[in-house]
Amino acid sequence: MNAMDQVWNRITDELKGEVNETSMDIFLNSIHPSKMDENTLVLEARNDFCKEWVERKYTMVLKKILTKISPQMSFRFIIKPQTFQKDVRPYQPGLPGAVAHVDAPTPVAEKQISQVKSSSGHQKGDFMFNAKYTFDSFIVGKSNQFVHAICQAICAEPGTKYNPVFIHGGVGLGKTHLLQAVGQHIIAGNPKAKVAYLSSEAFTNEFIDSIKDRKANEFRAKFRKKDILLIDDVQFLAGKGSVIEEFFHTFNELFQNKKQIVLSSDSPPKKINNLEDRLVSRFEMGIVADVLPPDLEMRAAIIKTSAARMSMKVPDEYIMYLAQNVNSNIRELEGAFLRVVAYAGIVQKNISRELIDQVLKDFFRENPTGKITIEYIQKKVAEYFDIPESEMTSKRRAANVVFPRQIAMRLAQVLTSSPLSQIGAAFGGRDHTTVIHSIDKIETMIKKDSAFSEEFQRIKRFVAPQSV
Ligand code: ADP
Ligand code: MG
Repeated sequence: MNAMDQVWNRITDELKGEVNETSMDIFLNSIHPSKMDENTLVLEARNDFCKEWVERKYTMVLKKILTKISPQMSFRFIIKPQTFQKDVRPYQPGLPGAVAHVDAPTPVAEKQISQVKSSSGHQKGDFMFNAKYTFDSFIVGKSNQFVHAICQAICAEPGTKYNPVFIHGGVGLGKTHLLQAVGQHIIAGNPKAKVAYLSSEAFTNEFIDSIKDRKANEFRAKFRKKDILLIDDVQFLAGKGSVIEEFFHTFNELFQNKKQIVLSSDSPPKKINNLEDRLVSRFEMGIVADVLPPDLEMRAAIIKTSAARMSMKVPDEYIMYLAQNVNSNIRELEGAFLRVVAYAGIVQKNISRELIDQVLKDFFRENPTGKITIEYIQKKVAEYFDIPESEMTSKRRAANVVFPRQIAMRLAQVLTSSPLSQIGAAFGGRDHTTVIHSIDKIETMIKKDSAFSEEFQRIKRFVAPQSV
């Protein structure tokens, strides 16, 4: 037996003392050791669902075991290279709720990103459409019928009927989907249309790069020539002086030339913190529409559609059960369903209430409202690094607590969009320059160090599996 197998055997022996038999089976079925050198053990997961599952449930206990048997050793997970998603085997009739032998599918969205190029060619950051985000796949219910109708109307008469259109609502409710549906619909009808879809962060980055590269004029010309400008998550523009200035002029020019502008945000214009009045008033000039959380009927419809897309038959009873239990947003709902399917595949069981309960318990209930607060992030990050939660607000400057604290601040910014002052207050009354410094530091590391970037993503998934 080689050294790696020996270590692995000891790990599994120790683990058997910690978890029940079923969990142990799933664990062994999900992951196996792939490589080892003197300080790292590489564990290969069958697919990304397995990786997430094992990471989430076992990182802590594996760390503990490894410290005991081989203190200098760390471990990391990789996903087994594979050709994707051809292993969803057909539904077997006759079995109640059968999804026999389904291998964990990877989230659909990632696989379906495609680029739609405009006739003018495309530049970085631009024109990235997700093939799934079309009107065809958009389910209309009470919570979104108004905003859906508006979006369809502007496709028919861009720039003239409602301009600008400002869509607001909570995360995961379909804002990005709608913005992209508008863009893709218009391009499909008129391949020459100059459509730009981008997040306000991408707009900001591109603007900053253009200044650095002394190409501000090109940047200006590029956006002011568009026929349709779709900017996602405009709340992130707030407080960014020179970008706002540029955006303001772009907006005015397009608006005057009757070019369609569609914007999204997590809150209505007036409620965006620190947003300049002149922008608030422009955003309110056309139509402001909100998307609300889906009601039960719509949640069930969404799960049904997901099931159909995966060619799976799931009894209505279980669809309803899931719809009743995951009532936050559409992204979470889709995520919950994918996980149920994937889990059924791993344990080789049919979907049942018990199985749904198991998945909900592991992935969702821990944070019952589904709402990610700064406090929740602090708790999870502390758990991840195995440090007391009180270190998140303490004044201690030891590296082993400063670093997790900085990561938690960055996550608080990304996941809650709270203003920096509020983040600072929540982290033991730090001022906002400290918060900026922390966030910058983490950002720089993410850019420069790809291993850290992966680690950061892992932590983010650990804190908010529904956000990725
Ligand atoms: P937001 O931008 O509001 O945070 P997204 O547009 O990213 O939300 O939507 C989150 C997920 O939910 C996406 O996978 C999207 O396709 C899906 N989704 C949202 N609304 C609907 C809908 N009405 N019908 C079908 N899928 C939807
Ligand atoms: Mg979005």
